[in-house]
Amino acid sequence: MTQIEEIKNRIDAVDLVGSYIKLQKAGSNYKACCPFHREKTPSFNVSPARQIWHCFGCSEGGDIFEFVKKIEGIEFPEALKILADRAGVELKTEDPRERGERGKELAILEEATKFFEGNLNLAVSPPSGGETAGTPYGYLRKRGLTEETIKEFRIGFAPAEWKSLFNHLLSKNFSAEEQERAGLIVRSQNSKFQSQNYYDRFRSRIIFPIFDYSGRVVAFGGRIFEAPTSQAVGATEAVAKYVNSPETNLYQKSKILYGLHKSKSDILKEGECVVVEGYMDWLMSWQAGVRNIVASSGTALTETQLKILRRLSEKLIAAFDMDKAGEAAAARGIELALAEGFEVRVVGELTTPPSAPLFVKEGVGGGFLKDPADAVLADPAIWQNAVKNSRHIVQFYIDSSLKKFPAASAESKREFQKSVIPVVARLSDLEKAHWVQVVGVSLGINEEAVWSAVKNHASKNKSAGAGIQEMRAVDVKPISRKELLENRILGIAAKYPAFILSSDNELDGSLFSGDKSVIFNGIKQKDLPAGRQDKGLEVFQELISRLTLEAELFLEGVGIARKATAEGAAYADAETEFIICKRELTKEVLKEKRGIISKELQSVEKKGGDVQALLADFQKINTELSKLN
Ligand SMILES: [Zn+2]
Repeated sequence: MTQIEEIKNRIDAVDLVGSYIKLQKAGSNYKACCPFHREKTPSFNVSPARQIWHCFGCSEGGDIFEFVKKIEGIEFPEALKILADRAGVELKTEDPRERGERGKELAILEEATKFFEGNLNLAVSPPSGGETAGTPYGYLRKRGLTEETIKEFRIGFAPAEWKSLFNHLLSKNFSAEEQERAGLIVRSQNSKFQSQNYYDRFRSRIIFPIFDYSGRVVAFGGRIFEAPTSQAVGATEAVAKYVNSPETNLYQKSKILYGLHKSKSDILKEGECVVVEGYMDWLMSWQAGVRNIVASSGTALTETQLKILRRLSEKLIAAFDMDKAGEAAAARGIELALAEGFEVRVVGELTTPPSAPLFVKEGVGGGFLKDPADAVLADPAIWQNAVKNSRHIVQFYIDSSLKKFPAASAESKREFQKSVIPVVARLSDLEKAHWVQVVGVSLGINEEAVWSAVKNHASKNKSAGAGIQEMRAVDVKPISRKELLENRILGIAAKYPAFILSSDNELDGSLFSGDKSVIFNGIKQKDLPAGRQDKGLEVFQELISRLTLEAELFLEGVGIARKATAEGAAYADAETEFIICKRELTKEVLKEKRGIISKELQSVEKKGGDVQALLADFQKINTELSKLN
């Protein structure tokens, strides 16, 4: 058995595809809206029997390797690595140098992660109280993280030195150029010392590795851990609380969501996704058992991130700072989420019980907690309940407007125009009707007036979605009628070879074009073409599998329409379909021939040549065609 076969044996295609997109059972297969083209009704199928996937909308399809390649946007060697890890199969050639540039980058980040992990218990001196006391590990524990969480998410520490990681990686044979490409070191602007002009990007920081969808470290987020006056941090530069890896081959900020490699199955299961801001929020929420979460790392979600989440769930629950909800970036994020078809909700207030006054946000009387991380530390139930009691985004805007201004005041009306109307205008018609009424009653605005404001906004912003980059506006490869017929015949024939073996259905292999005629003859001889080494047998086998699935799905549809479920009825339907397609394909081929002859006739006539023979051929085809009609 090859390693590829071994991996395929161990990983179920439905499980694998289902870990990326929400699948629904339909007959003997699973359906979903295609992740590779934009559509509203599902035409993407996964077959558990055949262990393949196929989309009728855009004609993409294949096995588990093909799926991972496409959805992750990677090449085969990397897909192989991901699936081998998932299957627990150890690949024979594991030398990182043989895994190309991306493989090398992953290896260097893995080494850096181990280095940071090893430093976590480093004592930081001088122990002068506050955050700088003791070790970074101690600090994390004080913030509420368990040892298990710290280990599971591979949190580490970058020491307060200029070249500790740099030298460590050099000793592991990673060059300065490679380290720079991976975003780990920075080239000094001051080039006085040509040989020493590199230094570590992360210094004196708690390191949160950032993982890709498959759980490989692709970047780091570093939180400051020492007094900003420290030499090694850099006295002249303004010290940011967080420093992140720059964009690299592996890390595109707009595509990665912190924690998704762990939370994707919980998001799928719950059908909803909670969005928090920071790594600590994510980790503490995870510990509190609210695990259908992602962290946006402080910025509004991008369209790409929303698309990834939309494959997994329909409901988005935003847990951002109440004060920030009205900001432009947040509003833009909400609009994008609505445009992707999410139901958007907002997490309720994080209110402390009076017994935990320590965590009250300063300046805000009344017991608001700063963020989900603090809420969980105070009491996990606060966070769990806040998520449970999330409000619809429109209700949230109504409430926050009423908190600031009295209903029916000029200010509340302005607020309503600014924040409520754009959101209501984005909703489905049914939801719109509901919320227009609620908005009218709560804000004391005439319902008619609300309706006209919504319509006004919609007409002004007709092109609002136009700027949004389309996933792939159904640029379906145009498939000709002839190709469609060929595919259907081959699919049915592969399922019921008896049809093409029976003399009644005698079918001429020359009706098919290119590889299809090879496949046809293969099925007819119950034997796949062995001499076609140039293409490889798998190419044919995979194509046959997909064509068979396509035919099965079609026949299943016919069967359902007629409520005929017995195998006999399906067989009869298949044979009828086979005969019809055979006749139609014959007609298509004849028409094609007639077209060629007709062109020839024209050119011979022009030259004044003899057209007798051509006319006879033309006539013969017409007779054959009329017999078929
Ligand atoms: Zn598709």
